[in-house]
Amino acid sequence: MKIIRAEHLGMCFGVKDAVALALETARREPLTILGDLVHNETVLAELRVEGIRIEQKPAAIGTQTVMITAHGASERRMDETRKLGLNVLEATCPLVRVAHRSLARLVREGFHPVIIGRRDHVEVRGMTEDLVEYEIVLDKEDVANLRERPRFGVMAQTTQPIDRVRRLVQMLRERFPQSEVRFIDTVCQPTKQRQNAAIELAKQSDVVMVVGGAHSNNTHELVKTCSRFCRRVYHVQTAADLREEWFCETDIVGITAGTSTPDAVIGEVEHWLREFAARMAVQSNQTRETYEQAFQVA
Ligand code: SF4
Repeated sequence: MKIIRAEHLGMCFGVKDAVALALETARREPLTILGDLVHNETVLAELRVEGIRIEQKPAAIGTQTVMITAHGASERRMDETRKLGLNVLEATCPLVRVAHRSLARLVREGFHPVIIGRRDHVEVRGMTEDLVEYEIVLDKEDVANLRERPRFGVMAQTTQPIDRVRRLVQMLRERFPQSEVRFIDTVCQPTKQRQNAAIELAKQSDVVMVVGGAHSNNTHELVKTCSRFCRRVYHVQTAADLREEWFCETDIVGITAGTSTPDAVIGEVEHWLREFAARMAVQSNQTRETYEQAFQVA
């Protein structure tokens, strides 16, 4: 069994910086994070061990300092939090800020905003909560349900696969040929790198392991992308989810991981696979030796 890693995988700089800021702040003062800092249970458990509170609603914030996650938040949400008299620490990723600014510019210039992303995702909520009118689309049915506007301004959630984004922009242009459609590419570079590397990995692999949190959007997108190029794709959160029956001795096993997956978790998955591969090789040699001995005896 051969084990290969995607060229780009795992935690992005935006998540790493947010985690570092949370840990550094928590060493000085009690800290609550509003929402899940990352969609990865291993990381959240490590933060809780350091005494950091993670709450989903402003009313539950139990410390003077509160952190906004890398996914960002709307101005309305930030104001509500500040009005509680709290110190607001922003860990918003700079690339999410770029997306917010792009959207604001489209609206200011008179375009009807269309966001390509998941309606229920915290980043998309942060982008749309300040808007009066907007559309969120994720597939061709959503585009088919739009009504005509003279000018559409399109941008995307930062972790959407760029090929899906381009496809939906093209569909929108074809559906409304009379409308002006301006598209700003807000998919972040780490997402593009991981998506492209996952495609290359899946093409070379017999089986692909995608390591990431159960609620991580970009991990789910990696699973979908790899599944287009490889028939055996498994999503695992940690090494504990791996199953021996998934692998054959001659397999090339590819590993990729979402932008919130810590290096240590990827390392544990790889370690498990290498140990299993070594055990299979020994077993196979023993079987071959036994067979050869039996053949000679006969
Ligand atoms: S996935 Fe992209 S936008 Fe999100 S935190 Fe990472 S670098 Fe920033």
